[in-house]
Amino acid sequence: MTLLSEPLQFTPDHGIASGPGHVTLVGAGPGDPDLLTVKAARALREATLVLYDNLVSKDVLALVPASADRVYVGKVSGHHSLSQGGIIELMLRLAGGGRRLVRLKGGDPYIFGRGGEEAQALAAAGIPFDVIPGISAAQGASACTGIPLTHRDHAESLVYATGHLRGEGQARTVDLDWELLSRPRQTVVIYMGVGTLPVISAQLQAHGLAGDTPAAIVERATQPGQRTITGTLATLPELARRHDVRAPALIMIGTVVALRAELGQAASTPAVARTTSA
Ligand code: SAH
Repeated sequence: MTLLSEPLQFTPDHGIASGPGHVTLVGAGPGDPDLLTVKAARALREATLVLYDNLVSKDVLALVPASADRVYVGKVSGHHSLSQGGIIELMLRLAGGGRRLVRLKGGDPYIFGRGGEEAQALAAAGIPFDVIPGISAAQGASACTGIPLTHRDHAESLVYATGHLRGEGQARTVDLDWELLSRPRQTVVIYMGVGTLPVISAQLQAHGLAGDTPAAIVERATQPGQRTITGTLATLPELARRHDVRAPALIMIGTVVALRAELGQAASTPAVARTTSA
């Protein structure tokens, strides 16, 4: 792993194309390497330079050839990390200098995780790029917990929202359309919401969603150590606190969560867990 506190060193000539380089934004999926698309797995096997985030699992990264340059641009507490602007600058510098690189992002590159901003910067700089979709955390968590995201008897709409705080200092708050999120017959999936779960739960109840609406939090979906905690909209914050749930975790709210009792047994097992228990 190349940490950013060290100078970046790349093999000269390695992967340098004539003319401008190229960036492939690749979705790494939720963690289980078997959940990569065939196209993503091919891009990783052929990569000569990979810029990757902290959400990318080591099992996915293992597909990158040992000879490739890997640059970690995510956040690990205690280590220096690049800002989003810094990541974009680095990507533009490398690709602008002729490198072909893979920008590897957890889940799907265009669902949260700021892949859209990176693509905009590439487009503006005239650097050719393509995007390989990934299985987003919501789909990974759905399959491996036995919680369908929609179901004719429960939910005909599905909303993905981010629970992260916006704003500055004391004014930092979760700024969501609470009325929309509190509608009945809908499943709400919240990314980046572990820290703000108490606010989310209180706001949804204040806007009319019943406190006994089934809700779950799924930690490290599809990865070894995956945990699922189910409760209700009202009880989930306390359950998550008591079980010390940490990011990455996904919150699922809606009556579909109750289907886990029926479907949880048949839910898929992460490949890594299968290997370990074999
Ligand atoms: N592009 C990613 C999301 C990036 S935002 C995607 O499509 O999945 C980061 C958030 O995604 C995390 O805070 C968490 O809420 C969620 N997440 C990503 N991987 C996860 C996993 N394996 N299990 C649970 N949540 C996950």
